[in-house]
Amino acid sequence: MNVDFAQQSASRSPTWCPGCGNYGIWASLKGALAKLAWTPDQYMIVYGVGCSGNMADFIKCHGFHSLHGRAVPNAEGIKLANHDLNVVCMVGDGDCYGEGGNHLIHAMRGNTDITVMVHDNRVYGLTTGQAAPTSPHGYKSKSTPGGLIEYPVNALALAITQGATFVAQGFAGDVPHLGAIMQEALAFKGFAIVNVLQPCVTFNKIITYQFYRERIYKLEDDKHDPTSAEEALKRVLHQDERIPLGILYKAPRPTYQDQVAVLAKGGPLAKRSLNVPDLSHMFASYQ
Ligand code: SF4
Repeated sequence: MNVDFAQQSASRSPTWCPGCGNYGIWASLKGALAKLAWTPDQYMIVYGVGCSGNMADFIKCHGFHSLHGRAVPNAEGIKLANHDLNVVCMVGDGDCYGEGGNHLIHAMRGNTDITVMVHDNRVYGLTTGQAAPTSPHGYKSKSTPGGLIEYPVNALALAITQGATFVAQGFAGDVPHLGAIMQEALAFKGFAIVNVLQPCVTFNKIITYQFYRERIYKLEDDKHDPTSAEEALKRVLHQDERIPLGILYKAPRPTYQDQVAVLAKGGPLAKRSLNVPDLSHMFASYQ
């Protein structure tokens, strides 16, 4: 049988809008994974629902597309079942900070050993442009025609104060820099979160590539101390005019998996014998 690989490859290209920040995130992730030289069976990506989840078809590894807001608890379960696996979540700001916000808080305080990459486009893109948890106060959208009443979730401040041990921010318009952050986050042992500033060129005409380029600065050029939670907090509490990129906070401590006694010996649960007793006599009694 003749297979047209060129055509097959073209038909499997991402369906994001031209210019979408998701392309930069995709390229950065692939670059980081290539540098880590992980084979496809060494890691698993759990996707949330949203434009970001579209990436599920375009990364060669084990993957799981979860329900809306449930990527993090699924990732926690996978990590408990196989703690040798590197487990990554690729989620949107709506999925992770909105529908899944409760799961995020508890995964952070337990320091579960997963990496969460958030495509933060400050809008619900897949459902055509409603206000999201990170949309600015007063933001006008089809779901908030009179302007958004709420103030945005400050996810980075939440992460620093609620137990995340690696907290970073990157920009989809700077692939080498984002790739380097991702590489460090993926290699980190503990709960790592990378908030990625991702322009949605179709539905968010206010927070654009230009908007970010006028405000971003790199922490490594600004004498930042990533071991100081206070310094990291100061930087993320005032992001209106200057938006930090890089590793904001890094404070390793024992992970959740390190402290689960049953995981200490015998390898991953998924590879152990179930030792199920012979129950045939019980089933026979029902016949
Ligand atoms: Fe990207 Fe926005 Fe298009 Fe979704 S709707 S693919 S986030 S540009």
